[in-house]
Amino acid sequence: MKIFNTLTRQKDEFIPIKEGEYRIYVCGPTVYNFIHVGNARPVCVFDTLRRYLEFLGNKVYYVSNITDIDDKIIKKANEEGTTYDVIARRYEQEYFTDCRGLNVKPATVHPRATEHIDEILAITKDLVDKGFAYVANNGDVYFRAHKDHDYGKLSHQPLEDLEAGARISVGEIKEDPMDFAVWKSSKPGEPAWASPYGPGRPGWHIECSAMARRHLGDTIDLHCGGVDLVFPHHENEIAQSECANGCTFANYWMHNGFLNIDNHKMSKSLNNFFTVRDVAEQVGYEPIRFFLISGHYRSPLNYTKEVIESCKASLERLYTCRNNLDFAMGNASGEGKELIAKAEAAKAKFIDAMDDDLNTADAIAAVFEFAREINTLSASESKESLQAAADMFDSLTGVLGLLYNRNTDDVPEHVKSLVAERTEVRKAKNWARADAIRDELASLGYVVEDTASGPKIVRK
Ligand code: AMP
Ligand code: ZN
Repeated sequence: MKIFNTLTRQKDEFIPIKEGEYRIYVCGPTVYNFIHVGNARPVCVFDTLRRYLEFLGNKVYYVSNITDIDDKIIKKANEEGTTYDVIARRYEQEYFTDCRGLNVKPATVHPRATEHIDEILAITKDLVDKGFAYVANNGDVYFRAHKDHDYGKLSHQPLEDLEAGARISVGEIKEDPMDFAVWKSSKPGEPAWASPYGPGRPGWHIECSAMARRHLGDTIDLHCGGVDLVFPHHENEIAQSECANGCTFANYWMHNGFLNIDNHKMSKSLNNFFTVRDVAEQVGYEPIRFFLISGHYRSPLNYTKEVIESCKASLERLYTCRNNLDFAMGNASGEGKELIAKAEAAKAKFIDAMDDDLNTADAIAAVFEFAREINTLSASESKESLQAAADMFDSLTGVLGLLYNRNTDDVPEHVKSLVAERTEVRKAKNWARADAIRDELASLGYVVEDTASGPKIVRK
């Protein structure tokens, strides 16, 4: 599989350190509110990557953190007259509810920043001991960006360019404007943890360096997040981890493009966002997942109500195809074997697409092409062939994390027996009874379609 690596700015063959095992870290949410549809993009995209790597037979160690201490959480707690942890735990639960709704697999570990203060202070100490970080006179600890000669390698900008806009302001306690906080001394009334530098809390970036090291090791295979995290968040994570550990932090970096509204990034600060919860209440969760993986992950994606509706309609076509397969299997009388080969061809196309930098758009197109073939051929196929098609259909849609809300056998027994009776009375040419049964079925909300494979019950 090839992936576009932000470090090298090209598609690289994705080779893990240990064959058959991938260690992946994905920056997770800051839990102070419901997530919006833009936040759900990395969640769904990288869950799809994980599913694909597992489908190929690999073991995936997948770590996605919870930022449970930060200025926005403290602000929200103050507004509500409560403590930061009440806010953080509440919205962490809401986040997991949305993840379940979006059919996102639980991570191997969902580490919380506040439960890794020891690990955070251990890295901070390593950096201070090696001279990469210093303690300012107010108790803050800063990283010396100039001391790291690789600084800027992920965003491909030399330090001088990054520095151009930065100014040291009056009263600044940093040695240099590019230095960034590893540890922040606490202000009165703020949550604080004891440290050798006085009471304080972690800076923004250090938690990911510490939790990746703790749960995945010094060098990981892949680190992911939205493209807005490249600078400064990921650049700073690299600086801290590589200077503390003395080795490469992550071999590959993947970044998803923005979810936009009218060409502006969906974000809380621009107030142009829709929460996943609100959209799910209107159209369900699955169309949101479908939408988020319907384009290539590096391209911008434009959110509109219409496009979500059309995703819902597309999903309905897949549900119908799969339900038709169930029906055909229950009535299979043909000899055809064509779908066995079509299933293998669909798989090959699907893999080609996914191997090319996780091209979910083309992978979805391969599934739809397969669905059309199923619809065309199923009436004349053998049971074995239909089963092979169903298995492949489930497997490929499962890699995309789709089709989890399909209503399977939802036809009640009394409806089925009415349909069976209708078949009998029609054979006996008892049209009056057949019509009466049709009316009774209609009053129950069902119609019967007579197909080549026999009567099919459809809910209206
Ligand atoms: P935040 O809680 O703002 O740190 O965001 C959590 C994740 O969502 C990060 O990986 C961000 O890069 C990502 N993200 C935030 N807004 C968007 C957006 N509009 N489109 C795509 N990804 C986003
Ligand atoms: Zn992070």
